[in-house]
Amino acid sequence: MKILVSNVGSTSLKFKLYDMPSERVLCSARVERVGSSDAIYSWENSLDGTGKRASGLDIPGYTDGIRLFLADMCGPGGPASGMEEIAAVGFKTVLARGFYGVHELTDEVLEAMREYLFVAPAHNGPYLEAIACFKAVMPGARLVGCFETAFHRTIPLSRALYGVPYEWYEKYGIKRMGYHGASHSYVADTLAGMFGATGRAVSCHLGGSCSLCAIEDGRSVDTSFGFSLQTGVMHANRTGDLDPYAVPYLMSLGLSMDECLEGLARRGGLLGISGVSNDLRQVQEAAEAGNARAKLAVDMFVNQIVRYAGAFTAELGGLDNLVFTGGIGENSAEVRRRVCSALAWLGLELDEAANAAPNAGARVISAPGSRVRALVVPANEELGIARRTYETIG
Ligand code: ADP
Repeated sequence: MKILVSNVGSTSLKFKLYDMPSERVLCSARVERVGSSDAIYSWENSLDGTGKRASGLDIPGYTDGIRLFLADMCGPGGPASGMEEIAAVGFKTVLARGFYGVHELTDEVLEAMREYLFVAPAHNGPYLEAIACFKAVMPGARLVGCFETAFHRTIPLSRALYGVPYEWYEKYGIKRMGYHGASHSYVADTLAGMFGATGRAVSCHLGGSCSLCAIEDGRSVDTSFGFSLQTGVMHANRTGDLDPYAVPYLMSLGLSMDECLEGLARRGGLLGISGVSNDLRQVQEAAEAGNARAKLAVDMFVNQIVRYAGAFTAELGGLDNLVFTGGIGENSAEVRRRVCSALAWLGLELDEAANAAPNAGARVISAPGSRVRALVVPANEELGIARRTYETIG
């Protein structure tokens, strides 16, 4: 059975076609700068290793990007002879009111996503638009949303609730939702595959968005993400944790709601503090060149990871595995080194050479005698989505 997984960004589309249950990747593609006449398209046929890349393309909307991919997928030498071979399309959807697991994207579920547009505008907006395009272009395929909140449904209420008037929870659903579920659950699966069990684990997904997840016996038991994707560790350009009273205070001084939202969601995080970039590589370069605010941003970023890792270790009653994943987690040996060194008191001893070694699949980076194991697990959210989609329609 063929399952297509699509990852939707505000200006990008990624595709991966799986044969299930073998989990073999048949082809993958990526469209960047959707909505422009300068779009980039790359395609790889995993069956014969051929590929292509084109730039300067006119891709006004998601529909055009989807059509481009489908033409190659079903074209000569492609892994499918027609769209009807695709049993389902799985999406890494984020948030829908009342739907927190894996669900077919019925009108009711899409409406529930629309209800949370305000809470997750950068994610629900593009997904709603792209899903409508998929429905039009692939009317026969079943569409499945693997909500990023799914993995966190096991968090006990005593950790998921905020100390708000109880009716805010009952009436309005204000509670910690948790995101990055596809990534953290893949980390849990990988640990279980490598060692037979996850033990007490802290998974650090560090990328454009960052979150830590406490995992016990394969289940999420806490997360740094909250009701929205704003909280926890500071992100590329979103603030992370912030005293909620700061916002009404700023508004009382004359800032508009839109100005506040813009600051929280676009001008905060690594970008906001450094004033240099939302890309950690550039912030690190500036810090090394002596830029004090860039150095402060990196110091804050590392400290916030350490803060949550420490809090989660206390909740877990100890730590067996500390995992780094995501663009920063997988590629920044420096961030890993600094976090592990701050957690040395836990008995975590880093293997400096293993930490600095080039990426090569899931690997241990702690020293052989280390009491806490540290690992790098390359993110593979698409595989998790293919698995959940297959289970759902199976
Ligand atoms: P997203 O969360 O948007 O999917 P990724 O997980 O791909 O993003 O992470 C992207 C981020 O990873 C980049 O913004 C950059 O900050 C960071 N990154 C990638 N490579 C490195 C590196 N070698 N050193 C430090 N940061 C890196």
